[in-house]
Amino acid sequence: MNDFKNILAVFTTINDGNLAYHVEDKKENVDNNRIQLAKKYNYDETKLISMNQTHGNNVQIVNSNSPRIIDDCDGLITNEKDLPLMVMVADCIPILLYDDKKGVIAALHAGRNSTFLKIAEVAILKMKENFDSNSSDIKAILGPSIQKCCYEVSVELANITEKSFGKEFVNGRNIDLQGINKSILVQNGVKNIKILNNCTKCSSSEHFSYRKDHKTGRFAGIIKL
Ligand SMILES: [Zn+2]
Repeated sequence: MNDFKNILAVFTTINDGNLAYHVEDKKENVDNNRIQLAKKYNYDETKLISMNQTHGNNVQIVNSNSPRIIDDCDGLITNEKDLPLMVMVADCIPILLYDDKKGVIAALHAGRNSTFLKIAEVAILKMKENFDSNSSDIKAILGPSIQKCCYEVSVELANITEKSFGKEFVNGRNIDLQGINKSILVQNGVKNIKILNNCTKCSSSEHFSYRKDHKTGRFAGIIKL
């Protein structure tokens, strides 16, 4: 994907199957989907690090000694080569970050709550603090996710969004999570931001959507140096 060309940075589709163990799928199906995916993208499945995502803003720096599943976590950062990071979604925004100068990557799970908790900012500050990253070297991709056309929330939440981030991100009860994340990234000095515009609910049959079909699988964003 464009500026991520020297590394692996992909979003899976329905054709890659469900990748989450917590959605009433058979374990062997998920195991098999994960193995096939690793073959497709040529990484070591046993090294893959994923998260027990909890809609918070806990971002962890990981390496090959870290557990394969990081508990209570919505963001992963590493500078280690051949260590694939995975974020699982079905409407929430999978955000991938890449600092090609310092060789640092991140995978973030940005649903509404984590967006409100500014998980993108938390990740960027950690990249700066721990790896001496400069914001201007960090590139971001926001993957397939539910967009402002379909992301309707309660009146109360729409009001909170307007108060916290501005009325440009609210249209009636619909809110623009991609726009909010973009503004957070921009405020933190990130200039190179790509947003994939396919809405998981209304314009993409290639991705799982929780709002479209509550009992659904999860697709993933995967990034590896
Ligand atoms: Zn839509």
